[in-house]
Amino acid sequence: MSFADLGLSDELLRAVTDAGYTEPTPIQQQSIPPVLMGKDLIGIAQTGTGKTAAFVLPMIDILGEGRTRALMPRSLILEPTRELAAQVAENFEKYGTHHKLSMALLIGGVQMGDQVKALEKGVDVLIATPGRLMDLFGRGKILLNGCSLLVIDEADRMLDMGFIPDIEEICTKLPKERQTLLFSATMPPVIKKLADKFLNDPKRVEVARPATTNTNITQFLIETSTMKKREVLRALIEAENVQTGIIFCNRKTTVRELNKSLQRHGIRSAEIHGDMDQPARIAELERFKRGDVNILVASDVAARGLDIKGVSHVYNFDAPWHPDDYVHRIGRTGRAGAKGTAYTLVTKEDAENIANIEKLTGHKINRVKLKGAPTASEDEHEEAPRGRKRKADEDKGAERPERSPRGKARKAEPERDEDRREEPFREPRGREEPYRETRRDEQPRRDRGSRRRDERDDGPDVGWNGPIPDFLNYTLAAE
Ligand code: AMP
Repeated sequence: MSFADLGLSDELLRAVTDAGYTEPTPIQQQSIPPVLMGKDLIGIAQTGTGKTAAFVLPMIDILGEGRTRALMPRSLILEPTRELAAQVAENFEKYGTHHKLSMALLIGGVQMGDQVKALEKGVDVLIATPGRLMDLFGRGKILLNGCSLLVIDEADRMLDMGFIPDIEEICTKLPKERQTLLFSATMPPVIKKLADKFLNDPKRVEVARPATTNTNITQFLIETSTMKKREVLRALIEAENVQTGIIFCNRKTTVRELNKSLQRHGIRSAEIHGDMDQPARIAELERFKRGDVNILVASDVAARGLDIKGVSHVYNFDAPWHPDDYVHRIGRTGRAGAKGTAYTLVTKEDAENIANIEKLTGHKINRVKLKGAPTASEDEHEEAPRGRKRKADEDKGAERPERSPRGKARKAEPERDEDRREEPFREPRGREEPYRETRRDEQPRRDRGSRRRDERDDGPDVGWNGPIPDFLNYTLAAE
């Protein structure tokens, strides 16, 4: 199937050709025709599948047809984070070159005055994060009566971040007669309910999760200890002379400290996390995209959905607490048919997290036990020297996990709150509890994963994508 078969205008086909795309991805093939016909749509797909173009392309043609003079937005796209909002805006610029649509970005962390001015002229496309949009409502600065097309993107991420009440409120401010598109990587009950309430007879399309089915990504678990993590990480980066790699950490403090440590060791690195303001984040990202630095150290929320070309390696400095985050993290590499490698540094404390990841993905990940890695008793010994001076710890890679006051099961919470803090005008609503319950209800998918794994249990203890490369044994055995 070609783009020309989907019913897009000639101008848009030109823009798509200019972008270098020859064939629509499955989500584009299935979504574009019904959206052009004015139907509501539920798209179950995650970043990396081409889902942004699946809604941006038909929207450009729909909005390009009629123009109202009303001084209010004609369409609204809701994104959970500023980075994703900015990325969607870039997509409109790329594909909309022949259409002259006006666009406004309404995100936290940038001056509100300019955003309001842009809105007062009336825009074809408004791209917003829920926090900033709600704030403008509160100030009476915005009307959505003329908004006949709504996109709710990354709905499950919105749920994670506690944005669903805002989204419901926003939906009630739009005209009832409208077209609504909802995209989500998963369909937990809360999202299903939201769709039932605000979408009208939607067409449902679903595509495979790219990272779990992406055989372009070779994955390894590197067994190490908390104390040796930094050393091991540097050895991995240097052994393959990595030019474009992303390192994920579970906490913002780890991001900052690891970046400093890498720089001290002569590795050209930058950082991105939720405590940075928007211009600082964009500046760091640009440095990485331009190749001024080779390594980007990132937290989950700040790097969510980022589409950076040519990332060859993803390193999980910390094994993620949520198995979904693993899938999202490694999905930053192996994009658009390229090969990628993902390393996850694991200590014995990560056993449960790794088991959950393998359950979710249905694959056992290659496990590399480095020669010279500490024995279990040595690793236990590391827990002891709490009083040691930080400087001495630093180059050995130690960073003691912060204990959440709510106990081990909730330790992922601080990072989950990250983007809520990024929306400066938003008050926490304390609604996470019921939502977390519903996330646990995603059991069927995980069960599928575990069944697949059980079936493999009598096979060899290596997974995915072939043998362990020699350099891992040689390079790291020498530490
Ligand atoms: P997304 O899922 O929207 O984050 O898109 C993932 C990547 O796929 C982006 O780099 C897009 O530019 C790229 N992309 C989108 N559509 C196509 C296509 N039809 N062919 C090749 N690449 C595409």
